[in-house]
Amino acid sequence: MVADAALPRLIDQTRDSIRAWLASLGEEAYRAEQIHRGILRLTPISQMSDLPRGLRVSLAEAFTEGYPVPARWIEGEGEGADRFLFTLPDGEAIESVRIGPLEDYTACLSTQVGCGLRCAFCASGKFGLTRNLSVGEIVGQVLALRAQTATATGLEGWPSRLVYMGMGEPFQNYSAVLESIKRLTDPTGPGLGARRITLSTAGMVPEIYRFAEEGLQVGLAVSLHAPNSELRRSLMPIEEIYPLKTLLRACQTYIEKSGRRLTFEYILLKGVNDSPAEAKGLVDLFRNWSLVHINLIRYNPIGLTRLEAPKESDARAFVKRLVDGGLDATLRKSPGRNIDAACGQLRGLEYEKAGVRIQPAAMAP
Ligand code: SF4
Repeated sequence: MVADAALPRLIDQTRDSIRAWLASLGEEAYRAEQIHRGILRLTPISQMSDLPRGLRVSLAEAFTEGYPVPARWIEGEGEGADRFLFTLPDGEAIESVRIGPLEDYTACLSTQVGCGLRCAFCASGKFGLTRNLSVGEIVGQVLALRAQTATATGLEGWPSRLVYMGMGEPFQNYSAVLESIKRLTDPTGPGLGARRITLSTAGMVPEIYRFAEEGLQVGLAVSLHAPNSELRRSLMPIEEIYPLKTLLRACQTYIEKSGRRLTFEYILLKGVNDSPAEAKGLVDLFRNWSLVHINLIRYNPIGLTRLEAPKESDARAFVKRLVDGGLDATLRKSPGRNIDAACGQLRGLEYEKAGVRIQPAAMAP
C-alpha cells in the first residue's frame, strides 16, 4: 500500500468522520471504534488486524496515515528532558519534549512549524512561521511519545501533564489547539485530565478573552519577561500589537471569568531584566493581584543571540525580592524543567550545539 500525500490523513480523523466514511461504504459503525483505537496506537493500516482485509484496503485507498514520524530521539544528558524530532509528511520538522521520569512525565507540544512572533531569546522565532500544525499533528506528538514511553516502560505510557509550550504560539492556531485538547481529554480516548494541561501564550489578547469564555479547566500561562512596556517591546515584538496594559487587562478578565490561577512566565536575562529595578517593577505591577503566580527561569542560551543567563545566586536574589514584596514566585531550578517555564526555551533544531546524545527513535507498533 503506497501512501498518497493527496489523500486525507487518518491521524486527522475523528470517530464521527470515520463513522461517516464507513457508512458511505455500507460498513458497520462499530468498525469506527477499531479504527480509532488503531489511530491512538499509531498502528499502520496494514497492521490493523482486527479489520477484514478488504476494509484495510479501502482504508488505505481513502486515507494516508499521516502519523508524525519520529526521526530522532534525543536523550537529555542528565537534564531529565528527552527531545523528539518529528518529520511531517510535507518534509517539515517539529519537536516535542518529554520531561521528567518516564512513569510520571510532562509532554511539551509544538503547535506550529516555527513561530512568527520572533521573541529575541527564542530559537523557534528565529526561523519565522512556516505553517500551523493540524489537529492530528498536535495529537500525534502525544501518541508518539506515549508509544515510545510504553516501549521503554511496559506501562501505558500516557503523559501525566501536557504543556503547549513547544514551537509556535498556540493561540495563533486556536481552533486546532482547542480541538486537540478535546480529543486528548476525551474519556473514551486518551482521557487526559484537563487540569493537567497548560497553554502558554506570548500575549495574544483577543484569544485570552476568547479562552476565558471557553469554560475549560485548562491552565493558562502568559509570557511576560519584563515589568514595563519599553523593556518588553525590546524582547517581544508582540508588545507593539498588544501592549502590556492591554495584556494585563485581558489577564485580569481571564482570572475573574475562569476563577483560575494564571501563571506569568519570566525568563531572567543577565543585565537585561534581572536588576532590582525590574524586581520592584514586578512587585508594583502585581501587588494587588490574586490568583497569580510568577514562574521564573534562568535563560537557557540557544547560541543564536548574545543573551546570557544570570548567575544562580543572582536569580535567587531576584526571586527573593518578589517573594519579600508579597508575590507568589518560584524559580525553576532543574534545566530539564526549563521547558515547563516558558516557550522559547526549546532549542529548536540546534540539537548538536546543545551537546545532547542522539539516538535512533525506538517506537512501539
Ligand atoms: S518564545 Fe514562544 S511566542 Fe516567542 S517566538 Fe518563541 S515560540 Fe514564538
